[in-house]
Amino acid sequence: MRYISTRAAQAPAAEGRRFCEILLEGLAPDGGLYLPAFYPQVNDSMLDAWRGVYHAQGYAALAYEVLSLYIDDIPAADLRALCEKTYTAEVFGSAAIVPLRRLDDGLWIEALSNGPTLAFKDMAMQLLGNLFEYELARRGEELNIFGATSGDTGSAAEYAMRGKKGVRVFMTSPQGRMSPFQQAQMFSLMDANIVNIAVKGVFDDCQDLVKAVSGDLDFKRKYRIGTVNSINWARLLAQVVYYFAGYIQATGSNREKVSFSVPSGNFGNVCAGHVARMMGLPIHQLVVATNENDVLDEFFRTGVYRVRTSADTHETSSPSMDISKASNFERFVFDLLGRDGARTRGLFVDALQRGGCFDLGPDPLFSQVASRYGFVSGRSTHADRLETIRTAWRNYGVMIDTHTADGLKVALERRVAGVAMVVLETALPIKFAATVMEALGREPERPARFDGIEALPKRVREMDADVAAVKALIAAECGY
Ligand SMILES: *Cc1c(COP(=O)(O)O)cnc(C)c1O
Repeated sequence: MRYISTRAAQAPAAEGRRFCEILLEGLAPDGGLYLPAFYPQVNDSMLDAWRGVYHAQGYAALAYEVLSLYIDDIPAADLRALCEKTYTAEVFGSAAIVPLRRLDDGLWIEALSNGPTLAFKDMAMQLLGNLFEYELARRGEELNIFGATSGDTGSAAEYAMRGKKGVRVFMTSPQGRMSPFQQAQMFSLMDANIVNIAVKGVFDDCQDLVKAVSGDLDFKRKYRIGTVNSINWARLLAQVVYYFAGYIQATGSNREKVSFSVPSGNFGNVCAGHVARMMGLPIHQLVVATNENDVLDEFFRTGVYRVRTSADTHETSSPSMDISKASNFERFVFDLLGRDGARTRGLFVDALQRGGCFDLGPDPLFSQVASRYGFVSGRSTHADRLETIRTAWRNYGVMIDTHTADGLKVALERRVAGVAMVVLETALPIKFAATVMEALGREPERPARFDGIEALPKRVREMDADVAAVKALIAAECGY
């Protein structure tokens, strides 16, 4: 399999890069995002075989089947071993890894949040940690991951990379802005290769630091600075697997269709659903659920993609979806435009830089968004979240977090008779306990392994938003 950029003038498949070449990279050199040159097709008999694989051998074996269609530069036995090492009942809490929980006839929640940090990002990040360690050892190289987080991404990255050979993580976060639970999760890690940096400032100050350090190309090269953000193709690919696992669990035969409702921010999660659908998985609709930061809902309703200013980006009670633009969205637009890289570049470079906006509404292709690609959308507010958390608890006896509530709210609006609806659970309620408390008047359950983590010793450096000081810290930790 070769990978091409969404901004390549023409798609010269044969000249594309291979999986391990793009594994450690972010954007393509032309500023686009990597996509496979084509989507391998899973026909009826293959899907039957995969059904058997998931039931008889489990999630790791299914992951190997999906991944091996996209990765041909890691020997099969090694790839299988990486999947088996990643997706274990010990790490993900059950043998099913992503069990479905029934709410009602044809209404399910797919549990993606029982990994080490209790958010779905573990599903991809845990695999990424093992892939990085494998590839870095093979090359005899090191990597220093330097990132900024306001919560879920940073902790998922740290729990995936802790103790991994060849990798260090330097993670900045705005001092005092994360929930006590999130701070405890990250700062209680004592692994030598994990460095937490609490920056005196807000999240944007952290992101500016990352940009400044990555923008110093000499420094970046010398210290091999990399990232693990959601545009990484390997992360997206890992997420494709649980759409297959969800489908297989919700159905008895391949004649049935299933819809997925996906709490969305950067469009990484639901883009993996798009890939699964393009591979031929019988998905009826992909329901994009946003919170008040509704840049995606606006696009799917009107064709207008309008990047928000920071003044126009709201702090909500589903904070992991508080985005001003959706960094993976360019991948879908590339497919929608018939893989026209020049036109995609035009929209994302020219149009966005000129006005922060483009409008595909008048284009006949836009009508295919629903009819051909299955996308529909909806949004919710804080009041909707509270109401949906109460509904789930009262009617179904299930406690859900604020992000999953956004997904369930829109799922209930989009349900159709005869098609199962699977809501992706993107975090456990304990991570966003204050809002769940507001809705239900009771504390969410806390998995036993997190008892008392707020009281554990913390390892974190407090620093000003000072580029030189951060560079000095990285250099000192690397010792060269
Ligand atoms: C990251 C995240 C999301 C949004 O996922 P995207 O892939 O960015 O669309 C939703 N919910 C939770 C809990 C998250 O951590």
